[in-house]
Order: sequence, then structure tokens, then C-alpha cells
Amino acid sequence: MDCIFCKIANKQMGALLHEDDQVVAFDDMTPQAPHHVLVIPKRHIATINDTTTADETLLGHMIAVAKNIAQQRSLDADGYRLVFNCNHQGGQAVYHIHLHFLAGRQMHWPPG
Ligand code: 5GP
Ligand code: ZN
Repeated sequence: MDCIFCKIANKQMGALLHEDDQVVAFDDMTPQAPHHVLVIPKRHIATINDTTTADETLLGHMIAVAKNIAQQRSLDADGYRLVFNCNHQGGQAVYHIHLHFLAGRQMHWPPG
């Protein structure tokens, strides 16, 4: 399968900020904030629609990894945004699920 995020997860390209048995995290190549990290599962899952109840622990772990990055960078008190985009109206461009961690500036609502 020709999936760019599978290649990153398999360490065929890019540098990782975090790796464990389930997920990896790395800097977004087009950062939308001073801190823009993507947390992805090692296993290929195309969209959030493709997750099942068996993936609930994995999804929770992705959030926990993002929270730990915020704490490690002392961004937790100021705050941050976590985002999953799903399918075209959600703005998804890469079809391997990823949790966006965005921090270091004021976020706005509603999102664009
Ligand atoms: P989406 O719109 O699918 O939620 O977000 C995809 C994100 O992946 C974008 O923020 C984009 O900048 C990032 N991205 C796409 N290709 C690559 C890549 O090859 N390396 C890295 N580090 N980020 C990528
Ligand atoms: Zn993939």
C-alpha cells in the first residue's frame, strides 16, 4: 500500500518525536501553529469511520500521547487543540488516521 503515514510509522522516512508499540508522533510538514504534531497509529486505518470498538483503547492512547506532549513542552496550562479530520467535508487529506496537536498560539472558533 502506498501510504505516506505508513512509511513514516515504519521509519522509512521522516523523524519521530515519539514511538511506542501502538503509535508514533512527528512534526507536521506544514505547521499551522508553532507546535503542530501528528499522532498516528502504526496500523493503517483510513478514516475515523473505519475504527471499531476494538480500537477505542488505541484512540484513547492517541489522546494520551498528545496530552503528554503538551505536558513535556509545558503547553498544558496555556492550552492546545486536538483535531481529527474525517473525509472530504472534514478536511481530511491523508487517509491514515491522525490526531492533530496544535499549540503555541490562540486558537479560534468556529474553525474554518
Ligand atoms: P488532514 O488534512 O488529512 O487532517 O491533515 C494531513 C496533515 O498531514 C497536513 O497537516 C499535512 O501538512 C500533513 N502531511 C502530509 N504529508 C506529510 C508528510 O509527508 N510528512 C509530514 N510530516 N506531514 C505531512
Ligand atoms: Zn497508512
